[in-house]
Amino acid sequence: MKRSKKLLPFFKSLKFRLILLIIGVSLLPAAVLCYGILNTYEARAVSIRESEILSQAKILANQISTTNYVVESDKDTTTIQAQIDLLTTLYDGRVIIVDDTCRISYDTYNMDTHRTIILEEVIRSFSGETVVSFDDKNHYIEMTIPIINPEDTKETVLGVMLVSVSTDNITLNLIYLRQVALVIFLVAVCVVCFGGILIVVQLMKPIRKVTDKITEMQVGLGTLELLEVDNYTETTALCRNINKMLAETKVMDESRQEFVSNVSHELKTPMTSIKVLADSINSMPDAPIEMYQEFMGDITNEIERETKIINDLLSLVKMDKSAADLNITSVNMNDLLEQILKRLQPIADKQQVELVLESFRPITAEIDEVKLTLAITNLVENGIKYNRNDGTGWVHVSINSDYQYFYLKVEDNGIGIPEESLDHIYERFYRVDKSHSREIGGTGLGLAITRNSILMHKGAIKVYSQLGEGTTFDVRIPLNYIA
Ligand code: ADP
Repeated sequence: MKRSKKLLPFFKSLKFRLILLIIGVSLLPAAVLCYGILNTYEARAVSIRESEILSQAKILANQISTTNYVVESDKDTTTIQAQIDLLTTLYDGRVIIVDDTCRISYDTYNMDTHRTIILEEVIRSFSGETVVSFDDKNHYIEMTIPIINPEDTKETVLGVMLVSVSTDNITLNLIYLRQVALVIFLVAVCVVCFGGILIVVQLMKPIRKVTDKITEMQVGLGTLELLEVDNYTETTALCRNINKMLAETKVMDESRQEFVSNVSHELKTPMTSIKVLADSINSMPDAPIEMYQEFMGDITNEIERETKIINDLLSLVKMDKSAADLNITSVNMNDLLEQILKRLQPIADKQQVELVLESFRPITAEIDEVKLTLAITNLVENGIKYNRNDGTGWVHVSINSDYQYFYLKVEDNGIGIPEESLDHIYERFYRVDKSHSREIGGTGLGLAITRNSILMHKGAIKVYSQLGEGTTFDVRIPLNYIA
């Protein structure tokens, strides 16, 4: 059980499959070739032997017919018999001459002379046919050739010559060839297996190198230098992708560390203030009640700030989750915007900023109402917060759509964003002017939350700003949610 578990990875390995491939590709055609050649050898050898004997036998049959060997009893037989004997010794066979009464007039084995022979082939040859057959079980070729009267125009058959020749030597040759082929094949199997293993081990070296380096990195032994194995285009591409992934992981790790330190710092600041305020009161037991009230008011503000940071962080964490967490419903966007602006109206009034909503057409979209409300609220709130408070400030919100998207524009004539900060405003905890933002209750998380929410809806956000003149956020979101 344990052994099979150990062997399983080897059988599943690329190495094993490559070895099999090499063996298969080199030995399979050789085996098929050998099998084909050996299989056709016997048939081919037998057919050559047949045609050789047939031509010799036909010449002999001709001579027999011209000398009247079959019919005349007082014939001079020595020359013909000598030729028949020569044929039998040459091909290791037997020749029987049958006369027109089916009696054997001559048998080279001298076993059946004067006997009558009734054989299908002999009878067929009496009607002029030459019959050739091969008995592959008993390994012999048999042929019957008619002996035709040369002087008779009707081609009367005087007798039949029956030749049987052994093909044992062909069979022996075949057995020998089979044995030689088997030995050669076994040697080839050994050579190919050995060579195949050597080649595959060599081919797999670069892959092993990549794996070893990654393992070294995992256990912390390897240096964090770039991974480079250039032996194959594939390993170069693999290393390039791994390096890219490592670089991304490094950036992510750094950003996570930065985020954690930012969070701790942001959460610590209100706590430190609370502690300082509390310590101050404690150190002044005779302080007037007004002072106590003032300090307690400051402590309450710091607690509110801490709560806001924690709430924003929670919203951000929610937005970092997968799109599967979206609660998509069909929402009337005009109504939604009206509600958001209504909720923000008191803040705008306080800042003396005019809030204007412009809806170009009725729009219904498939969105997560809670998450998108948060995003839009942040944009409009920023427009109010980072605005002038001399009564000339305004925030214009407009919504329009085409057949595919709805477009939201949040425009203000506030303080604007410096050009160099435009690329950073979506970063977590980024604030253009930290103290100003803190003063007005900013956490630096608002736009990060907004952007994540829009991206979860497969939308896009763009910012245009001119310092001292105002800022415009353009948002585009598909009307139908794309899963
Ligand atoms: P905060 O909580 O500080 O508002 P945000 O992520 O919402 O954080 O915004 C990041 C920074 O971008 C803000 O601190 C502010 O400096 C700048 N900002 C965002 N919106 C505007 C705007 N409409 N006008 C000017 N500056 C803006």
